[in-house]
Amino acid sequence: MQQFDGLPDSRTSLRGLTADGDEAWLIRSISQKLYRCPGCGRAVEIGMEHVIVQRIARLGGTEHQHWHRSCAEDGPMLELRQLRKVSAFESRPGKIAERGRSKAGRRRRDMRRGR
Ligand SMILES: [Zn+2]
Repeated sequence: MQQFDGLPDSRTSLRGLTADGDEAWLIRSISQKLYRCPGCGRAVEIGMEHVIVQRIARLGGTEHQHWHRSCAEDGPMLELRQLRKVSAFESRPGKIAERGRSKAGRRRRDMRRGR
């Protein structure tokens, strides 16, 4: 995972596929409110830098959870297939929502690459 050290960050998100074939994006974020990390069950405090795991289902629809960075590195980051860097520009909420409105085969593929 060395190629992904320190990622996602404010400029670069990561995108991969789950075992179910859904897209999963890892996006760096700062908490605006209190969340509970699905990895360890503990709080993600307000103001904490953390990782949003954003799923976009193969058939459309989105859902996301807020993870501690270290928990995401030990969980989703290891489990995802075909993980690659993508410009954070592509993982803004509006872009994700737009992507979630179409099925996987109809999504744009030529996304801007990360660094
Ligand atoms: Zn955690």
